[in-house]
Amino acid sequence: MRGLTKIAPGPGNLELTERPDPDPAAGHVVLEVVGAGVCGTDLHIADGEYATVTPVTIGHEVSGVVSATGQGVDAGWLGARVVSETYFSTCGRCDFCLAGRPNLCNERRSIGTHVDGAFAPLLHVPVTNLHRIPDWHDGHAAVLAEPLACVCNSLLDRTTVAPGDDVLVVGPGPIGLVAAQVARSVRGRVHVRGTPHDTARLAKAEELGFETSSGGACPEADVVVDCSGAAPGIALGLERARRGGRYVQIGLAGKPVTIPFDLVCFKELTVTSGFASTPASWRRALGLISERKVALEPLVSEVVPLEEWERAFAATRSAAGIKFVLDPR
Ligand SMILES: [Zn+2]
Ligand SMILES: [Zn+2]
Repeated sequence: MRGLTKIAPGPGNLELTERPDPDPAAGHVVLEVVGAGVCGTDLHIADGEYATVTPVTIGHEVSGVVSATGQGVDAGWLGARVVSETYFSTCGRCDFCLAGRPNLCNERRSIGTHVDGAFAPLLHVPVTNLHRIPDWHDGHAAVLAEPLACVCNSLLDRTTVAPGDDVLVVGPGPIGLVAAQVARSVRGRVHVRGTPHDTARLAKAEELGFETSSGGACPEADVVVDCSGAAPGIALGLERARRGGRYVQIGLAGKPVTIPFDLVCFKELTVTSGFASTPASWRRALGLISERKVALEPLVSEVVPLEEWERAFAATRSAAGIKFVLDPR
């Protein structure tokens, strides 16, 4: 099969190449990939700013159908419509693994960075990673379960937003529009902030029922959630956080940036974050999806054949839409 592969470290070195067809190992399954979301992390990998073990097929936001099961896997999984957690393996013994935080395990190996990922027709994952999606849910939009789980790790695994809190989400990309919905699901009053370049994304935020702005006055907030990963966005968030408030960093800058970090001290801000996802955050994500408390379908801008990955990457980079999904079928 052909997969979109990081063939060597450094900028570029990304091509569709021949990859081995997976055979399910014991306790594992093979998914026929229905869709795989293009994410900021994939752009960082393309730019050589995010560590990978090459050669490796990238892609970690996956929706698929179970097409083969390994030894010891319940045959009831065959044909199931699923999404998958992103860790291929962790040590299972360290304090983090034992505490349900495998995202912090030193021996964590993830799909799309350490082992072959989802930008290919087939994907090999442990059965314990699977979550069924509701029958009514769109298979392409389901790729957003992974970013949703990451947001749940940042906002819900430790409590950040309380009912009635004013929440400022900076950065109206896919993560920001998911974070705004998660904050609203716990009854935060959410304002989404973008830049004048974000017209389409802010229009989407408004369509989802959020107040927005792209310049001028920006409200103060009890909780600021940065999903921009850009120095001006982070600076704005630190400035607009109320004294004694909370600041949550979700966006990644990909490089050192200059920000007014003293504000954390002057205002006694509580700063938290979340790296990737945890089993608990996936359960919360699937709960929010099943209860229709978040809408993922409106965030899919286009479903693109795998061969046209360069166009989907360029569109993601230029913020021409929200979420681009590659369909290898
Ligand atoms: Zn991602
Ligand atoms: Zn571990």
